[in-house]
Amino acid sequence: MSETQNREQLTTSGGAPVGDNQNSITAGSRGPTLIQDVHLLEKLAHFNRERIPERVVHAKGAGAHGYFEVTNDVSPYTKAKFLNKVGKRTPVFTRFSTVAGERGSADTVRDPRGFAVKFYTEDGNYDLVGNNTPVFFLRDAIKFPDFIHTQKRNPATNMKDPNAVWDFFSLSPESLHQVTILHTDRGIPATYRHMHGFGSHTFKWTNEEGNSVWVKYHFKSEQGIKNIDEETGNKIAGENPDYKTGDLYEAIEKGSYPSWKVYVQIMPLEEAQTYRFDPFDVTKVWSQKDYPLIEVGRMVLDQNPENYFAEVEQAAFSPGRFVPGIEASPDKMLQGRLFAYSDAHRYRLGANHEALPVNRPRVQVNNYQRDGLMRFDGNGGGKPNYEPNSYGGPAEDPNSKGAPLEVSGYADSVRYDESDYYTQAGDLYRLLDNEEKARLVKNIVESMKTVEKDEIKLRQIEHFSKADPEYGQLVAEGLGLKVPEIV
Ligand code: NDP
Repeated sequence: MSETQNREQLTTSGGAPVGDNQNSITAGSRGPTLIQDVHLLEKLAHFNRERIPERVVHAKGAGAHGYFEVTNDVSPYTKAKFLNKVGKRTPVFTRFSTVAGERGSADTVRDPRGFAVKFYTEDGNYDLVGNNTPVFFLRDAIKFPDFIHTQKRNPATNMKDPNAVWDFFSLSPESLHQVTILHTDRGIPATYRHMHGFGSHTFKWTNEEGNSVWVKYHFKSEQGIKNIDEETGNKIAGENPDYKTGDLYEAIEKGSYPSWKVYVQIMPLEEAQTYRFDPFDVTKVWSQKDYPLIEVGRMVLDQNPENYFAEVEQAAFSPGRFVPGIEASPDKMLQGRLFAYSDAHRYRLGANHEALPVNRPRVQVNNYQRDGLMRFDGNGGGKPNYEPNSYGGPAEDPNSKGAPLEVSGYADSVRYDESDYYTQAGDLYRLLDNEEKARLVKNIVESMKTVEKDEIKLRQIEHFSKADPEYGQLVAEGLGLKVPEIV
């Protein structure tokens, strides 16, 4: 038997057998090439269209399939079906990422890491689109595009721009807590397996009786925390920019499945009114002394994707993808993300991106949305495409409605409470031992030393000083500057 007899037939996209995939059709042996070679045309044309727009943020990522298993009964707090029984398992797909770099950028840079989990539940998909940090730089989505511009490339030089980074941070003091976390040892996790994950925002859980609580999610790595320093990160970035991508893939391939213990903090609904700060402000954590961690379950990643583009590049997570029992909170940053993520996917992947295999819910989807580019399922067949209708189209279930939330106030462009940018950044600083503090200061000084304007450096030093006078003093010394007088 010849070798070709054991192989599948090569076909055109139209399914017709291809006779020759090595030699284009030419007029004689020296050409020119004939336009009637439609197989050649199709090959070249498809190749030109291989790239889809990369994500503006979180472009470089790695992902894996696995499961989530409930280990503690949280049904008194939420009616989410996938959480209603100890031992229940739900398939997940999880994507880790860096934030600022492009698709080909290095894995080992100082940057927050994305930590996005898609739960394929019996009530449809639930996406928890978090980071490896419990807080964020901003708390109002209106600042997000400006912030990301400072993390990307300078419009003139097309290079990363520390001036823009520190100018923006120093003029946006709500960023100080996250800036501090980012420059601690945890700012460069050794691998995607050795970092925690956080839902970061506050969410609402509602139980069968219609009673709600506020929650925050914590995923604690069962591999433990492991970090690398800047020098090691830079060295690995030069030698193997895909280091963490490879680490995740190889660990799963070897059967060493990474896992995370999942916890929540729960705040009674009414305590949000009286807590000492706005609990929906994503630049702040809830003290674990006030709201201790409650175990929920365990996430295990045990299967690599078979195809990176199909499963990782096309994976579309949205913080607005909730299931009954889990809802949004008033967090203004979350509110902006509820729109922005699905909108990004509509741009990158099209209006029907939820029908792609990695995004497709594992339950039947019934609605009145029809048509659109790349509608590749049955498009609802002949079923009614409008509601109300008398023809048996899908009907709503009032039990799946979210719990009502009382709100008050005037519609206005209102600032968050500005009274405290500093306490929690200072708490974190004081939690570090002396060596960790020294490394934090060194990392900040290294990043700030190329900033051109002293005015920017001094403004930022003032913020560090307000968090903790020693913190400000050490950064100022590292930069050869004096702490400005704080009024
Ligand atoms: P707690 O002592 O109860 O909690 C401290 C938390 O800090 C633990 O979750 C610990 O995580 C984490 N942590 C330790 N070292 C670092 C680090 N280098 N970078 C980031 N996190 C670290 O205190 P509070 O709840 O009062 O919080 C104090 C400070 O801890 C906060 O200001 C915040 O910056 C930080 N933090 C708080 C979290 C929270 O949910 N309250 C979550 C993460 C950080 P681990 O057990 O894994 O070491």
